[in-house]
Amino acid sequence: MQWLRFSWIPGLLLGLPLVQYLPWLDLAFLHNAQLPFLLLVGALLLSFFYHSSRVGLAALLLMAFYGATRLDWLLGWEQDLPIYLGLIALNLMLFSCSRDRSIWGYLGGVWLMALLGQGMGLFWVQQNFGPLLQQFSLPHLPAWSLAFESFTSPLPLLACMAASMGAFALLILYPGPTAMGLLSCNLLMLYGVWSGMPLVPLMSVAGLLLLTSLLGSSYELAFRDELTGVKSRRAFRYQMLTPGWHYCIAMIDIDHFKKLNDRFGHQLGDQVLRMVATQIARYAPGQLFRYGGEEFVLLIPGRDREAAEKQLEFMREKIASYPMHLRSGKRSSGNKFWRSENRTGQQVKVTVSIGLAQKSRRLRRAEEILKAADQALYKAKRSGRNRMSIHH
Ligand code: GH3
Ligand code: MG
Ligand code: MG
Repeated sequence: MQWLRFSWIPGLLLGLPLVQYLPWLDLAFLHNAQLPFLLLVGALLLSFFYHSSRVGLAALLLMAFYGATRLDWLLGWEQDLPIYLGLIALNLMLFSCSRDRSIWGYLGGVWLMALLGQGMGLFWVQQNFGPLLQQFSLPHLPAWSLAFESFTSPLPLLACMAASMGAFALLILYPGPTAMGLLSCNLLMLYGVWSGMPLVPLMSVAGLLLLTSLLGSSYELAFRDELTGVKSRRAFRYQMLTPGWHYCIAMIDIDHFKKLNDRFGHQLGDQVLRMVATQIARYAPGQLFRYGGEEFVLLIPGRDREAAEKQLEFMREKIASYPMHLRSGKRSSGNKFWRSENRTGQQVKVTVSIGLAQKSRRLRRAEEILKAADQALYKAKRSGRNRMSIHH
């Protein structure tokens, strides 16, 4: 359900239809014919900085199409709009299949050629055979398609639906703000075909969605740790400004992590870090942050320290008993660790030490509590590791 984290990206725009009822806000600006260019150029330029070829290509495609309609290169485009939107949706879905990289690379070139080819192909069909919609209409429509009787052909609607479903599957497989942005654009195209929304606001909203997804990417860059996927040190710093009335802070540090790195390599060390982050997030209470290196910090709300202690103990045991087996033999490239119990390879034991401190009359300020949790952690280390120590 990680993808739900990015639902604010389309959510922001779902509010748009509501805003039009506010008397002081006139949504007529969305009908300004220059606006799509402004927003899409903005998305394209920003995509270069973020190395986001997916957003860059999407902006380029939408801009090229919108430009072609403004220049009247596509004769009778109004009538063929559903076909174009269906094709755009399919392309957007295909963009989300690729990984982000610089648009100037080899793959960017292939995509640009493919888009150019499509444009030229459509132009040729239109010039030689007339309106596209007639070409792509199905001669014998199945009975269910009568539900869409306002369309000459259900094909664009089906294309948009297929593209949206594909983009949704990709979002679940590789959750991220860009995948969410592209899915939202696909749903927008579907809505456009279904409702006959005019092109200018449609393209403006698409531009807004692409910009919002870049905003989402920059939020992730700033506040999330790339390796483990948990919140970053910076997010912790901001959270510490308003930690709440009653809370505990737990510092968690992996034991002898340096030895593990030295013995098995940093790639395996990274996998251990990811495993530990996942286990903490699953079993421990409160908000989890990566404090730095192999240290994590939990901000646990409430005044029930004993309940927090129990949960942290449970989490510590879960990590210590996590069955991580090193894959033996030459096939050990890629994922070297196995969770499976019955692997014959060497087992790697990972343990953590925990320091816990609670807000009290003596410890009032967040920094003091953090320092106390750190001291407790060092006590846990000194007294043998793989244990929890509480600051009293
Ligand atoms: P202790 O039980 O006392 O905590 O010992 P330790 O070896 O865990 O602690 P130490 O501070 O000596 O070593 C921390 C190591 O964590 C050093 C560094 O190479 C490693 N490390 C920090 N960040 C990363 C990372 O992102 N990936 C990997 N693989 N290693 C990291
Ligand atoms: Mg450490
Ligand atoms: Mg350590």
